[in-house]
Amino acid sequence: MTFRTAFLSLLFALGSCTSAPTEPPEFDGNRAYEYLKKQVSFGPRMPGTEAWRQCRSYYYHFFDSLGLAVDSQSFHFYDPYSRADVPLVNVIARHRSGDEDAPPILLGAHWDSRPRTDFHSDSTRIDEPIDGANDGASGVAVLMELAALVAQQAPGVNIDLVLFDGEDWGKPRDIDYYLLGSKHFARQGIRGKYKFGIVVDMIGDADQQIYREMYSEQFYKPLNDMIWREAVALGRTTFIDMTKYRVIDDHLPLSTAGVPTVLLIDFDYPYWHTENDTPDKCSPEALANVGAVLARIIYNRSLWPEKPSQL
Ligand SMILES: [Zn+2]
Repeated sequence: MTFRTAFLSLLFALGSCTSAPTEPPEFDGNRAYEYLKKQVSFGPRMPGTEAWRQCRSYYYHFFDSLGLAVDSQSFHFYDPYSRADVPLVNVIARHRSGDEDAPPILLGAHWDSRPRTDFHSDSTRIDEPIDGANDGASGVAVLMELAALVAQQAPGVNIDLVLFDGEDWGKPRDIDYYLLGSKHFARQGIRGKYKFGIVVDMIGDADQQIYREMYSEQFYKPLNDMIWREAVALGRTTFIDMTKYRVIDDHLPLSTAGVPTVLLIDFDYPYWHTENDTPDKCSPEALANVGAVLARIIYNRSLWPEKPSQL
């Protein structure tokens, strides 16, 4: 063996240790955008309303037709504003193609839309619900398209897609009345049941910039490191590798209950909690940026951080 062939053999051996990432099926941003519009077409998904019921049946039918196992958690919340019980339902779609004993990863988004328009251009209409195209429907749309991908080609891992209800219920500053679905989910005893969690919220803005969210950095920085590294590898330049904003969202109850979870959110959205949070402010490309990064992670178990979270 010459020095040259020995050198080439060594390179080959090294190359075989660090195999190229598996290519997932292509995440279709246009299809995800159709899912976003469909959700909005029912009307505001305000808990307890007919639109909310219809949208939930749409989810059940969608996941069921793909062959995922669909489960739900129904509960009530005593609403101090109306002094009545409000029904809430978390929807869970399960995919299993990994080891039987391997804890799944949790991918979450909230499916409710806000019952009030805090920043309505007409101040007499702040009690009207919003469409929540970006604030709600965008995250679920990405999870729905990911469900279609794993149904098409099994990634060899276990995944729970969790649609949380009642994330956006409270009035400003009434923190106790937000995150109702994820708090209920966390109360069921989830410690050790998931490898990690990723929550997506407000990721459909056509003018997208996603920064590292600050609670997420505390909960599980190695997971954020992986996400931004893979976003760079895929050339998704709307992922900006800097921290910005500390956001109260569904990743808080999950992380506090022992499932280290990060939040992907684009909080620079001028239509937030206005009557203008409508599909035309969102784009298929924005959904595809987030979807492609998540698909890459789902299909490449070897990329997941081994370092445990600090929780
Ligand atoms: Zn909101």
